[in-house]
Amino acid sequence: MSRRFSGSRLVAATHNRGKLEEIRHLFAAFPVEILAATDLGLAEPAETETTFLGNARIKAHAAAKASGLPALADDSGIAVDGLGGAPGVHTADWAETPGGRDFVQAMTRVWRELDAAAVPEPRTARFLCTLVLAWPDGHDEAFEGRIEGRCVWPMRGSQGHGYDPMFQPDGFDVTLGEMDRWEKNHISHRGNAFRKLIAGCFGPEPA
Ligand code: IMP
Repeated sequence: MSRRFSGSRLVAATHNRGKLEEIRHLFAAFPVEILAATDLGLAEPAETETTFLGNARIKAHAAAKASGLPALADDSGIAVDGLGGAPGVHTADWAETPGGRDFVQAMTRVWRELDAAAVPEPRTARFLCTLVLAWPDGHDEAFEGRIEGRCVWPMRGSQGHGYDPMFQPDGFDVTLGEMDRWEKNHISHRGNAFRKLIAGCFGPEPA
């Protein structure tokens, strides 16, 4: 059984504004204050693992140790079938430029590589998210979520963040970038992982 969260403050171990806002929104109904790693001046550890779980653990434990509070980390990305699962754990890296992250560049690269490999449509893909809640004593709990869909081009929509404008979830004719960004949480990889986290660590005590 998962360890229950019993405090009133939680560190969101992310320096990504989009993720922070989604995490704050997901916790809106809970009596938990979400502190941002950036606002606490916490360092951003290197993500040296090869899995979402490994990297989420690095971030959650670093923030819990540095702050003395439980910390929640999200490691996520998009895995494109026609690219052998890339960019996967390198999703953020594909957006890096000397002037900061450029997601138009990253999405263009995904589509260009799919074209170069002559991958037929539908160009299936999924967003994956691992949430790790770590305590300062070194314990952690991990939860995974996913959303299946396809890559589309040209990109559409200006809501959301990251690769949202090029991802159309199964059963929808709009991209995540065209959805109300809070509605997106009902179906997203992060929303799915979050519901498991709530059931495991925040919901009512099992009888
Ligand atoms: P991380 O900080 O290493 O987990 O980077 C995850 C990458 O995946 C970032 O570039 C995000 O923009 C991208 N990403 C994760 N979740 C989403 C999402 O919900 N929509 C769009 N892009 C996402």
